[in-house]
Amino acid sequence: MKDLYDFTEDELRAELEGLGEKPFRAKQIFSWLHAKGAGGFDDMTDLSRGLRSLLKERYSPGGLAVDTVQCSRLDGTRKYLFALPGGGFIEGVFMVYRDWNTACISSQAGCAMGCRFCASTVNGLERDLSAGEMAEEIYLMERDTGSVISNVVIMGSGEPLLNYDSLMRFIDIMTAKDGKGMSQRSITVSTCGIVPGIKRLAAEQRGGAHLQINLAISLHAATDEKRAELMPAAGKYSIAELMDAARMYYEATHRKLTFEYALIKGVNDSDEDAYELSKVIKRTRAPHLVNLIPVNSVTESGFRRPDREVCVKFKNKLENFGINGSIRRELGSDIDGACGQLRMLRSREKGGAGA
Ligand code: SF4
Repeated sequence: MKDLYDFTEDELRAELEGLGEKPFRAKQIFSWLHAKGAGGFDDMTDLSRGLRSLLKERYSPGGLAVDTVQCSRLDGTRKYLFALPGGGFIEGVFMVYRDWNTACISSQAGCAMGCRFCASTVNGLERDLSAGEMAEEIYLMERDTGSVISNVVIMGSGEPLLNYDSLMRFIDIMTAKDGKGMSQRSITVSTCGIVPGIKRLAAEQRGGAHLQINLAISLHAATDEKRAELMPAAGKYSIAELMDAARMYYEATHRKLTFEYALIKGVNDSDEDAYELSKVIKRTRAPHLVNLIPVNSVTESGFRRPDREVCVKFKNKLENFGINGSIRRELGSDIDGACGQLRMLRSREKGGAGA
């Protein structure tokens, strides 16, 4: 059965016209799915019974289910394990930050990129998520918390620029005015640095204008050698190429660039690393923020986070070199664990190699 969450409003209109229905039905159904939080076809009370039965026969209103929720007692952060239709799991996180609610969602089940500090990649890539599944992660969190999510970061498992078409469809669905009506500026795409994907994003147009989504690039090292060691697949692009692509995105969109840098004890946390990093960031000649993230422990990697004083010193060094840095505030520290670990545990319980 086709997943109705995966249709844009125009596609839904064409689909319904094919069933002999009036075009305005598309707006009603799209709004039920993406604005009014319908949990199923029976919630769509302004549709005739006949149409609801027809929809039930032919379409599914999504297929994700909440498997497990971990709740922080400290700050309201909730970590979700979602079961995928057909098997497998993905994770998402609900965070309350400065009066607005943010969802961190996955774009793929597992990940092929093999970054050495990341639990999401341990079993490789299982499959891409559809745009509808990405949207559903948000709606399930909204239903569970009774809150409206206004910001989305695509920073869970997966590399979104390797699931490009679904990513763009997701952005179109999220920003449609008859649906959730989210601003593009409330959406952040986090990439490990897929250069062709960043260039494609820079060239992307909507309504005759360039995109306005935020781009976050996972850098994690300031030299090609070190980056290739930490991020074997992403490291196939040189840092120079990557910074030039980031510059291209800035020139097209005028959006501030964000760089993610996982601080790993004894690996990339020295004064020299801070200096090299500042040189790399300056190459973009763009407004920027470097997010310093003390690395999460992943048993498989053996990496450890530096002491707090080392992190602060690294940030101060960067600032001395003219780079804006911030140490990421840790939400949900009482339910901590690297991204992907909850999923891995559940998969093992179920006896699978992957999810
Ligand atoms: S950090 Fe991101 S790109 Fe790298 S392996 Fe993990 S999920 Fe994939």
